[in-house]
Order: sequence, then structure tokens, then C-alpha cells
Amino acid sequence: MTAFKINRKLKKGEYKIEEVFSGLEDSWIVRNVLKEEFEDMKKTTKIRIVECDGYMWVEDADGSIYICQKYLRKGNERDIYLDILHELIHVRQWKRGADLFDRRYSYAERPTEVEAYMYTVEEAKRLGMSKEEILEYLTVPWENREKILELAKRLNVL
Ligand SMILES: [Zn+2]
Repeated sequence: MTAFKINRKLKKGEYKIEEVFSGLEDSWIVRNVLKEEFEDMKKTTKIRIVECDGYMWVEDADGSIYICQKYLRKGNERDIYLDILHELIHVRQWKRGADLFDRRYSYAERPTEVEAYMYTVEEAKRLGMSKEEILEYLTVPWENREKILELAKRLNVL
């Protein structure tokens, strides 16, 4: 994560990955999971900085990544690092035709989320994050505690 940089001052609009982030090449996820697909994403994946109160997500209409401007400006660097890598896994899933918002599953049980978190947790462990820190990272306001704990168990965090 040492080479990771966030261009926090960007205005709302559409950007390429490298205009917003640098240093992702050194991540475990790019080196071991995305590999050459990341080169393709750098050319084709759009990042849209928008005004919203959340974090980031992949839009299933076109596979672009939306980031809330406030989060980009003020979010914790490590959280943003893990989040963008998590979203890049979703871009990869989207490119393969997965339904990223499959309503048959709750958030923490959705196969696309479990897979993305599996890789994100591996990245987090490599950053030296403790179980408690990873559990805190997995906690999101839209999913209940019980489901988050189940997810953590499924990911071998607990
Ligand atoms: Zn996700």
C-alpha cells in the first residue's frame, strides 16, 4: 500500500482508474487475481465521482465504478484502498456476466460479495490488519450484525 495514492481533490465527473488512484499495481489482488485484466480495466473502466452519502459501487448498467465525492475526499486511506480493489473484483464479475445485485440473496450472502470479500480479506491480512480491524472493515450500515458475523466466519476471519 506504500505506493498507493488517492487524487482526493477531483471534481465530480468521469475519470479513468489511473486519474483517481495510483499504486494499485502493487496490490496482492492486482498481482494475483486481476493480473492482465487490470491493464484492460485501466483503459476501459470508467470511474464516476458523484455527490452521494455512501462509499463506492459498480453500476450494473455499464460496469463503471461510482464513488461518492465526500468519501473520496475524507475516507480513510486503507478503507478506500480495500474498497477500490473490492470494486475491481466486481468489475471483473460484471464483465463475466454476473448479476451484482441478485435479489435472491442478502448482501452478505450474495456470491459476488462473498467472492469479492474473500479477496479483499486476503489483501487486508497482507496489510497486517487484525481480526478486529477486518471485522470493522466488513461492517456496513446496510447489513445487520448477525449477517456480518456469518460473513466473517465464511471468510475465515473469525
Ligand atoms: Zn461488494
